[in-house]
Amino acid sequence: MKYFIKTFGCAANEADSERIAASYKARGFKPADRLEDADHIIINTCMVRESAENRVYGLVNNLARFKIKNCFAKQNLRKQTKLKIIVTGCMVGMAVRDKTGKMLKVLKQRLPQVDEFLPIEEVGFDYTPVRGDKQKALVPISNGCNNFCTFCIVPFTRGREISRPFEEIVSEVKRLAKQGYKEILLIGQNVNSYGADIIKSKVKNQKSKMQIKNQNFKEGKITFVKHLGRYRIPTLFPYLLDTLCKIKGIEKIDFISSNPWDFSDELINTIARNPKITRNIHLPVQSGDNDILKKMNRWYTREEYLELVKKLKLKLFAESKFCVAKQNLKLSTDIIVGFPGETKEQFENTVDLCRKVGFYKAYLAVYSDRPLTAAHKAFDDDVPYKEKKRRWNVLEKLINKK
Ligand code: SF4
Repeated sequence: MKYFIKTFGCAANEADSERIAASYKARGFKPADRLEDADHIIINTCMVRESAENRVYGLVNNLARFKIKNCFAKQNLRKQTKLKIIVTGCMVGMAVRDKTGKMLKVLKQRLPQVDEFLPIEEVGFDYTPVRGDKQKALVPISNGCNNFCTFCIVPFTRGREISRPFEEIVSEVKRLAKQGYKEILLIGQNVNSYGADIIKSKVKNQKSKMQIKNQNFKEGKITFVKHLGRYRIPTLFPYLLDTLCKIKGIEKIDFISSNPWDFSDELINTIARNPKITRNIHLPVQSGDNDILKKMNRWYTREEYLELVKKLKLKLFAESKFCVAKQNLKLSTDIIVGFPGETKEQFENTVDLCRKVGFYKAYLAVYSDRPLTAAHKAFDDDVPYKEKKRRWNVLEKLINKK
């Protein structure tokens, strides 16, 4: 029996697909080089944009036609086809989180050709992932998100943030080093808040932040992220980075995604003193206009973002000469154009911010209205598509095609 996995979306989905492959391998399946040769076809879905979701519907329809054809073609050889279509990832994640069961029912009605809807939580971390990249290993450190940016469907598809146990991550990276991997990419929706849930679960009855700060954890040193002068979350991310840097054989550590509001001074200092940690920092800004940022429920102003960039440039440019990878700081970002109500002037503020930062790369998206999100409920998707595309082109030319 053979399997084939088609992955849509981000690095987190890619890492999930490597775990799905591992569970198939454990059951004696072999990977198929081509979709046509597989007995089980697994589609790992993404819902971040409507277009990604539509591609899944299109693919399932095509597969269903292929399955019928295949069934007739093989009738005499195998009596009946074993071809199974399995759907997993964000579309299933969102459906199974709906306690009423309505969403799963609707999904099953829309995709009657699918044999199984697999929630990714059922895959687990029991088997060694089948890694596609032999140089750089993807290592998930957390899953889900608590931030609820108003445009984003991820908190509904992946649920609340859950961190993987500290020791489990360290053991996995030690194993990878022994296997000869030199680079790792730590993955989470908001890596900087890694460990906040671990800490909170251990100090449930302690209300004071200072009390938490003074706790001794076997996991290590807690860093508190401050936002607007107030403690926001306790995190173990800087300590995790420090610990992973000490693993012999690992030469480069990358991470994605880190959000601006949880990028503490401690984290910057940790990067600065560890030459193994990447100087390619992905720092999603989404917009350069304060009113739009507020409507997006992003926890910073453009001034705070620029201040953070200034700190990163000061600290990491200065320290770059010690970096093993001999990199200078390079900043990349995510930007959404045409968020509901975004005026031309507000868009120009984003252009201005991009000029000031000098991003080397940007993942640009035209705003896509997603179900369940706060933006979907509160705002009209009122920027015409033509204008969204114009704004996208302006930034594409400024950042990606310069
Ligand atoms: S931080 Fe915001 S954009 Fe990123 S996954 Fe969480 S809700 Fe979505």
